[in-house]
Amino acid sequence: MARRSPQFVVQQHQATTLHYDFRLEVDGVLRSWAVPKGPSLDPAVKRLAVEVDDHAKAWGRFEGRIGGGYGKGAVIVWDRGTYEFLGDGGMAAALEAGHAKFRLAGEKLRGGFVLQRTNRSPPKPQWLLLKLDDADAERGGDLTATAPRSVISGKTIEEI
Ligand code: MN
Repeated sequence: MARRSPQFVVQQHQATTLHYDFRLEVDGVLRSWAVPKGPSLDPAVKRLAVEVDDHAKAWGRFEGRIGGGYGKGAVIVWDRGTYEFLGDGGMAAALEAGHAKFRLAGEKLRGGFVLQRTNRSPPKPQWLLLKLDDADAERGGDLTATAPRSVISGKTIEEI
């Protein structure tokens, strides 16, 4: 029996600063990175991705306003779908090793991506998120500008 594909979600989050929370389901939780400029389909673009705390899977469906405290502000589900790990040994081991390759099947993001850890120093490891040069690559495009709306409600973050 085929295993269910793991989920991914990208939540746009207007907290103190605007960022995109990129989350991959690994072993039942959402491993998470804050990507200030959001993902890109352009393989020439390397996006900083700061590792943040794991989140529960249910959080990946959250859209609305965080009322107070850490992360206060609006959240939309900017993209979601499933992913396929590319390589040997599994996603958890690849992330532990600091280099993970995977293929996204979302509503906006599609094709191969890499997360490459560049810096382990505290407080949080830093990574780069980059698009593999494949049939889904798009040079010069910026989905955060051309496709800003929630894939759940159709709202922009300003409309939440
Ligand atoms: Mn966030």
